[in-house]
Amino acid sequence: MHCTVVRRVISVTATTRPRVAVLGGAVGGLATAADRFAAFADVTLFERQSYDDKRVNCGEAITESSVVPLATTPENGFLNRIEGFDLHVYPSTDRDAMASPLASTTITVDEGFVTDRDVVERRWADRLRRRGVDVCEGTNVSVGRYREIVDDFDLVVDATGQPALSLKAAGRTGAYTGDVVALNADVEAASETPHRPDIVFEGHLGYFWVFPKSDRRANVGIGGAGEERPDNYIEELWGACDRFGVPRPAREDGIYTIPRGPSLDPEHTHRNGNVFLVGDAAGIANRYQGEGISQAIRSSSLLADLVKQGRVAEYPRRLHESMRAEYRLATLMRGVWESTEDPELLASVARAIDGLGVEDVTRRPWRVIARIARHPRLLVRLLGIAGVRSRLVDAYTDTWEYDSARRAETATGG
Ligand SMILES: Cc1cc2nc3c(=O)[nH]c(=O)nc-3n(C[C@H](O)[C@H](O)[C@H](O)COP(=O)(O)OP(=O)(O)OC[C@H]3O[C@@H](n4cnc5c(N)ncnc54)[C@H](O)[C@@H]3O)c2cc1C
Repeated sequence: MHCTVVRRVISVTATTRPRVAVLGGAVGGLATAADRFAAFADVTLFERQSYDDKRVNCGEAITESSVVPLATTPENGFLNRIEGFDLHVYPSTDRDAMASPLASTTITVDEGFVTDRDVVERRWADRLRRRGVDVCEGTNVSVGRYREIVDDFDLVVDATGQPALSLKAAGRTGAYTGDVVALNADVEAASETPHRPDIVFEGHLGYFWVFPKSDRRANVGIGGAGEERPDNYIEELWGACDRFGVPRPAREDGIYTIPRGPSLDPEHTHRNGNVFLVGDAAGIANRYQGEGISQAIRSSSLLADLVKQGRVAEYPRRLHESMRAEYRLATLMRGVWESTEDPELLASVARAIDGLGVEDVTRRPWRVIARIARHPRLLVRLLGIAGVRSRLVDAYTDTWEYDSARRAETATGG
């Protein structure tokens, strides 16, 4: 199967420009259709929403603005330049608004912005059009049309989010293992909102965020960091807004799931010979904090580079390898919380990582471990927790949830 696609793409590259279909025109799809591909291929992008009405379900914080090929101006949707995220750990939701947190720490970020992501995507799509990409917005690709596209195009990039259209077409939407459930909305404040983004841990609930877009506007949301889910998400969100002193959103925008990487067997990121999955479709968003924009763009750039080099068959392996450090760290961070649900312990970890960069706490496990090792009692305590030890072993032996899903499928003959 791999050889077929490599021959197909290479032979076309040698004689004429390959025809590439990109399904889904959010960050993952736009990044695939971007300069890297447009330079050597004829690209058609299909997006089911119109960019003028596009809605995104996201906190809209971009931690690596340089991966988006637009000037970071308000006209392009980059609203609030941020230099850090403030993390606050509270013992529980049962507290008054004036209670002090157990810990407050800062994670620095060099290229951070809170954005209007719908504007970023509209301007990015305009840029692609000017570079010759055929952008078909307001075009939902049905399963039937998907099959025609797979036959017609040399390469198909599935950037349709989770669950991916290609998995829907194969009746395999259950192939993803695990998710984070989140709810968010924009709020308008009567008085100034804080300039810096806040991420708040409040006991069992998981986390709550306030990402300011301007003096008076912010994106607020809650995400489930543990398996325990609130009975009523909007009431949980309102409660968190009250405790944190920000306005309640007027209405619920919807409850979404964030796939938590690696939630999909890498084998599934290459399908039907010429279909490759990127971004959320590939199940690579961060398992701990739910970030997925940089991850989607990185996966798209990797795919484009490999196609250009005639090595596209390496994509599933290379994607997994490039994400592995992040998978490991997110699994460990999540493990500390899930294994103990002890806010004091989480606060100690938060204090230990104070001042590290977002890259460190996302993709550099050894930076985090080195920080924790400066606190021998904390290190001993963490290593004394069976759940943390087993996650350490799993993470460093590449044992992921999709392995057990695969084993279960094999056992049932699926
Ligand atoms: C509540 C919430 C908050 C989040 N906050 C952040 C954050 O602050 N920062 C961050 O980095 N990440 C955040 N994430 C994660 C981030 O939103 C995703 O990881 C990211 O959007 C993935 O991008 P993508 O392009 O792969 O997929 P998506 O953003 O899911 O885009 C898929 C696109 O495909 C289109 N599409 C789907 N099906 C079809 C079809 N059949 N035909 C045509 N088009 C189709 C959709 O309309 C959509 O535009 C958050 C996620 C959630 C749920």
